[in-house]
Amino acid sequence: MSEHKTVIRGGRVLSMDAAIGDLESADILIEGGRILEIAESIDVHDCEEIEAYGMIVTPGFVDTHRHVWQTQLRTVATDWSLFNYFSRMRSIYSSFYTAEDAYLGNYAGALEALSAGITTIIDHSHIMNSPEHADEAVRGLEEAGIRGIFCYGLFPNPTQHPFAMGIEPGWRFDDARRLAKDRFNGEGLLKLGLAPTEVEATPYDTTFDEIRFGREIGAARISCHVALGTYDTGRRVVEHIHEAGLMNEDLLFVHGSTLTDDELGHIADGGAAISATPETELQHGMGQPVATRALEKSVKTSLGIDIVSNFSGDMFAQMRIMLQSQRGFENEKLTAPPREIRFKARDVLELATTGGAAAAGMESSIGSLAPGKQADIVITRTDSINMTPAIDPVGALVLNANVNDIDTVLVAGRPVKRYGELVGVDWPRLAERLRASSEKIVAGYESVDPAEIEAMAAALMLSH
Ligand SMILES: [Zn+2]
Repeated sequence: MSEHKTVIRGGRVLSMDAAIGDLESADILIEGGRILEIAESIDVHDCEEIEAYGMIVTPGFVDTHRHVWQTQLRTVATDWSLFNYFSRMRSIYSSFYTAEDAYLGNYAGALEALSAGITTIIDHSHIMNSPEHADEAVRGLEEAGIRGIFCYGLFPNPTQHPFAMGIEPGWRFDDARRLAKDRFNGEGLLKLGLAPTEVEATPYDTTFDEIRFGREIGAARISCHVALGTYDTGRRVVEHIHEAGLMNEDLLFVHGSTLTDDELGHIADGGAAISATPETELQHGMGQPVATRALEKSVKTSLGIDIVSNFSGDMFAQMRIMLQSQRGFENEKLTAPPREIRFKARDVLELATTGGAAAAGMESSIGSLAPGKQADIVITRTDSINMTPAIDPVGALVLNANVNDIDTVLVAGRPVKRYGELVGVDWPRLAERLRASSEKIVAGYESVDPAEIEAMAAALMLSH
């Protein structure tokens, strides 16, 4: 019995593979979820055909940092600082999430990512209010059909108000062990990762123990928020991890705008990675995104979307903000008008594809289009009013495209979006459930006096 075959016809291919390069018009043959061949014309019949004439064909995007659970709180963080985010989202809104809410946020959020061409996601999931929350958050990602790493959050969200700092039982460790054993058996699209308690706010030894715990349960990635720009208290967590002999390629450092050059060197030497999240970093006072500095130090560097409670979950916006904020940042320092621009659109497209794959430890299977790789593929139309004419396909994607231009998205060869619509999703019904969940959580938030929490957060975050 032969495996299911699909051929994508006549696309303008940006393979992001050095040997294959860009192809003006090419066919891609897929079999058993993998790319079998990429050529100008492939003589194959009796298989599913996807027409991509005039469309741009790229690898799926990789989002290396998102808190997917926040999907039904879209726009609450519109004008927030990081201080507001910590005291409101992390300390109040989160406490009103039921396991069902965690499922809905993760299911709808992963679908939003897929619709936007993000085929792999690293979910930093600090909504572990109970073991049921963990199961339901994983189920949401699974049912959406996205590839990725579910990073189990150890952060103890308050689950009652008035807020009390109690001694946190260690149930999350046992629960993460349970998930590793029962739900992540090495098959399927999802791997287990770990999101330690906030490493910038816990004793070094706690962080070290949590990193060792992640390794014990086989975490694919250990995701840590570090070096948060104006909020950086100078604890140099990355330096300490290095000195403790714990730097390794499973570490994924998020934000990191105020990492020192030495720390970036340690990250590079250890094979660890960076996820820059340009939009939140710029808004929340976390500093100029570290991506280009990290690239100069040969760090595996990627982009993350971070909080969809703030803005849309698509990679086009993050690529654009990364590119133009960095250009602005560098131009500010010039003393003479530039003849050329240093940071190119293709550089950010690499961050969102090959860079993300490397940061996720999946560079051998995703991130570029080449024979043998997984068929995670995005096909973007160029016939909309905002895309015509797409003279430079890279510029078209990075600076002009929006999610509605994406015609087709494949994950392991399976269409999850086709003709501009998510496949097999009853959106009106899902939207209704999301709104109901959202209204309940917002009402919970509004019932709490935030004064005590803000005082605690101010002492933690604003006193240095
Ligand atoms: Zn984050």
